[in-house]
Amino acid sequence: MGSGCSGLTAAIYAGRANLKPLVLDGHEPGGQLSMTTLVENFPGWPDGIMGPDLIENMRKQAERFGAEFRVGHVSGADLTVRPFVLTVGKEQIKTRALIIASGASARWLGLPSEKALIGHGVSSCATCDGFFFSGKNIAVIGGGDSAMEEALFLTRFANRVTLIHRRDAFRASKIMLDRARTHEKIQFMPDTVVEEVMDVSAKEVTALKLRNVISGKIWDFPVSAMFLGIGHTPNASMFHGTLETDADGYLKVRDYVHTGIPGVYACGDVADRRYRQAITASGTGCMAAIEVEKYLEETGH
Ligand code: NAP
Repeated sequence: MGSGCSGLTAAIYAGRANLKPLVLDGHEPGGQLSMTTLVENFPGWPDGIMGPDLIENMRKQAERFGAEFRVGHVSGADLTVRPFVLTVGKEQIKTRALIIASGASARWLGLPSEKALIGHGVSSCATCDGFFFSGKNIAVIGGGDSAMEEALFLTRFANRVTLIHRRDAFRASKIMLDRARTHEKIQFMPDTVVEEVMDVSAKEVTALKLRNVISGKIWDFPVSAMFLGIGHTPNASMFHGTLETDADGYLKVRDYVHTGIPGVYACGDVADRRYRQAITASGTGCMAAIEVEKYLEETGH
């Protein structure tokens, strides 16, 4: 399940082991990488590679080893029977082993202008895209630990980071909040929401239209990038009640990729709230496929 770099790496390994993997594309085919621009930290690409190209390459590589692809989103799963039964639309798909690589989706504000500028100055990943804004003024949205972490990370590149939060109380831990508050490059802008990201017609971020929720004042705030730090949602709701999750819905794994059910493995961001990198997602995808191979061998398939 899932066609981001974790699912595709699992498909490459499973295909190469002659296991006939079927990749179910999911809601966001290609995962988060398909929404980024240049990826400069995936080993093996000294000049970087565009996220969608990296995904396309992995997909071709999986196809070369016999992986099949199907458009569809898993809405339910019966993991009490063997083979397991997945519900995809009106169809029921049977499988002897299941790799859950359904990822996590970044939360967005939901503005049309924000959507239009993703990859052109709007990003949800400071580690991926911060480097492109060296010496620029950057905005980070959010008031939790993710936002503080992004803001602190971005100070390595930015001239100034403005942390914009919709109220004046913060969910962030005291230590992270203090670190951000005392950083000379970070300024806080509480009680403020983003109304619009400009400039869609220029295909780059030039400013944010902001509104102070107390005074109602609206103004344009020049920045070169907007980073969202308002959290991620793991795509695991179909397994709630079946597989163990943490308080935020991430699948719990032991020994890297094992869920509580033999034959069911989880890899990539759906089970990783900590690293969330393409290379780590690929790494656990590889592990999951190797575990499937062992499991099928042990169960006589
Ligand atoms: P979070 O704690 O849920 O915080 C999300 C923040 O985004 C909140 O301040 C929220 O505002 C704001 N927000 C949500 N939707 C918004 C919207 N539509 N518009 C504007 N603002 C919006 O999420 P998180 O920061 O990703 O953290 C999730 C968990 O991971 C936490 O347990 C956190 O401690 C942990 N984490 C830890 C670290 C670390 O220790 N290094 C790093 C990252 C995450 P409101 O407060 O007004 O709701």
